[in-house]
Amino acid sequence: MKLFLKGIFNDCFKHEDSNLLYNQLSAMKKKIKRIAVLTSGGDSPGMNAAIRAVVRTGIYYGLEVYGIMRGYQGLLEEDLFKMESRSVANIIQRGGTILKSARCKEFYTPEGRKKGYEVLKKNEIDGLVVIGGDGSFKGALNLSKEYDIPCIGLAGTIDKDIAGTDFTIGFDTAVNTAIDAIDKIRDTADAHDRLFIIEVMGRDAGYIALHSGIATGAENILIPERKTDAEAIITSLQEKERRKKLVNIIVVAEGDEYGGIELYRLIKERLPNLDTRLCTLGHIQRGGSPTGLDRLIASRMGYHAVECLLEGRYNVFVGILNNRMNYVPLEQVAKRKGRIAEEWMKVVETLSA
Ligand code: ATP
Repeated sequence: MKLFLKGIFNDCFKHEDSNLLYNQLSAMKKKIKRIAVLTSGGDSPGMNAAIRAVVRTGIYYGLEVYGIMRGYQGLLEEDLFKMESRSVANIIQRGGTILKSARCKEFYTPEGRKKGYEVLKKNEIDGLVVIGGDGSFKGALNLSKEYDIPCIGLAGTIDKDIAGTDFTIGFDTAVNTAIDAIDKIRDTADAHDRLFIIEVMGRDAGYIALHSGIATGAENILIPERKTDAEAIITSLQEKERRKKLVNIIVVAEGDEYGGIELYRLIKERLPNLDTRLCTLGHIQRGGSPTGLDRLIASRMGYHAVECLLEGRYNVFVGILNNRMNYVPLEQVAKRKGRIAEEWMKVVETLSA
């Protein structure tokens, strides 16, 4: 019967899609009794709140919940343990992830995923919740396409670079950490009449730079989504120098074509009289206690991830769009790129005049 069904799907759809549909259909009939959760890729504040929500919701519905250590790497090494309600006590306010996170080269290969599936099968895991970024979702998608294991993604990334959700777990905390740091830097910049270039995280997306820059009244915000006009920045700094406006903050996303260091070099070379400093905020943006918003969205998303598994809504990631849950098929996961509204940039330009 299984082969017959698969044959029909293969006739009707191209190979990859037929596998996905077949897995979804057979999994729909599956009774979910035991689920596992892992955190993968770069860590983000709020991952613990999401783990807690998955564990507690699973237990509420009578499921057994397993925690997998160190993402897909721990899965391949069968590093997993049964979690209880008390395993997630007192973690909602903690940054990092109690399950630890890792990147795993082997999981990119079909052989690696086969190994992962065999571990899941051996431990009778019926569904997997993956908390991570778009890379982790791709891993989950490949696994669910190849094997009969429903996967649910929760967007845990400080970069907010995933389309289909207004929030990702950790973004709000990272922005607030950056705001706190930039405010402090502005105090010292003001005392010494300095220009500060502050580099914030965001390899592919400029959301942290944009949000923290607007919220701290930065004079310029440089993001990868927009071409950086270095000449215009130099001209405007020269003009400000003439007006004796010497305190300036430029917030640069690390993925901007110049980045902090290049921009610093250029300004030093072209405007040697300006007292210019560079500060790279770095990993402080990943750590720290999650904000109320991050705890809230992580709790909602974690709860709905388990509901998805129980309702047979498989192989999706759980987002929040216009304050409603939004379930995006893992197939359609896309990096949110180049979509920063012109309106936002207009606000920056108008307010920093
Ligand atoms: P961040 O946004 O913080 O970078 P991420 O989840 O995008 O998080 P990645 O390093 O891209 O981080 O992916 C995490 C892990 O997911 C990888 O180390 C790998 O094990 C798995 N993974 C990523 N892409 C794939 C893929 N195409 N196929 C299989 N596994 C993948």
